[in-house]
Amino acid sequence: MPSNKKLLILPGDGIGPEVMAQVRRVIDWMDRRRSVGFGLEEGLVGGAAIDGEGVPISDATMDKAMTADAVLLGAVGGPKWDNLPFAQKPERGLLRLRKEMVLFANLRPALCFDALVDASTLKPELVAGLDIMIVRELTGGIYFGEPRGIEMLPDGTRRGINTQVYTTPEIQRVARVAFDLAKKRGNRLCSVEKANVMESGVLWREEVTKLHAAEYPEVELSHMYADNCAMQLVRNPKQFDVIVTDNLFGDILSDAAAMLTGSLGMLPSASLGATDASGRRAALYEPVHGTAPDIAGQNKANPLATLLSFAMMLRYSFDLAEDAELIEQAVQDVLAAGKRTGDIAKPGQATVSTSQMGDAILAALDKRAA
Ligand code: NAD
Repeated sequence: MPSNKKLLILPGDGIGPEVMAQVRRVIDWMDRRRSVGFGLEEGLVGGAAIDGEGVPISDATMDKAMTADAVLLGAVGGPKWDNLPFAQKPERGLLRLRKEMVLFANLRPALCFDALVDASTLKPELVAGLDIMIVRELTGGIYFGEPRGIEMLPDGTRRGINTQVYTTPEIQRVARVAFDLAKKRGNRLCSVEKANVMESGVLWREEVTKLHAAEYPEVELSHMYADNCAMQLVRNPKQFDVIVTDNLFGDILSDAAAMLTGSLGMLPSASLGATDASGRRAALYEPVHGTAPDIAGQNKANPLATLLSFAMMLRYSFDLAEDAELIEQAVQDVLAAGKRTGDIAKPGQATVSTSQMGDAILAALDKRAA
């Protein structure tokens, strides 16, 4: 029987294939023990695609991504391809995926696992139990606005120009994703902009307020200026449930929030696009970290960020919240049992390899499902 869950796996470069191999074991486990039944395809992206197919992502792989129910990506890039011209770099593969799949909402959870409370630079009481979600607008705003460029002025000096621009539909579609998420979580949404100094911020605030009144009156909505939000994230991060913000502020605030939890090796993400007539939403899931060339090929990388990205996929693309929770609990279990890859180990603490972390996760899943 053809599977109704078409999943495209793009391991990419560096530690990408190593961490993805562990996620593949969990996918096999899910198929065997939970009858999840994925139709799996695998493809090349980034440096691996440049080496194998001559381009950062081939049209054939793009076609597969466009028709898949979800894409799971490792990471792309590395020193081998650093000197290529910009248009041929590994990152272009990722950018093409984001652009052609029109992935306008980037979801970045910041979740503090109990066993890793000490890994944060903040005091344990500020981050223990932390569970916030930042929704960043990903395809508009100042990174794409026109006019842009660097121009020469008559006096011989130069002027650099970028334009922050948002339309009503762009604000509404990302805000809807955030409101829907809030409804499934703590029912609170904080919308972040700089309406005090930017017209695009005024529009953002007005459109979010209107949408709230029209479609989501049951969600508790607040507004905050981006500079204050940055302060509040490090002063009292647990005050937030879901945050929605534009591309530029989201870029900065999601990285700040990520570090509240301590390690890059633990951070998943999702990028969502529009829903088509059949209800299928374009979606790409990937860890926040890169290809870690310093440890690539050494069986040292932490596979948990990619595994948690897969758990996000189960929840948001396939509505399998129970299975997602099972994986998240298995992660809690292995951390509570003291299993640590190098990136999350305290000085002097024993470490496990990438594959041993995979073994521990499978054992924890077996135990939970017994
Ligand atoms: P990086 O995230 O690859 O690594 C930063 C540091 O964190 C390194 O010390 C690395 O060893 C460590 N680290 C990262 N992930 C880890 C994991 N899962 N387990 C254990 N340790 C981990 O960032 P970088 O060094 O700035 O970039 C390296 C390459 O990755 C570059 O080519 C960059 O362009 C690329 N990159 C790709 C993406 C992506 O594909 N989305 C994102 C960021 C960087």
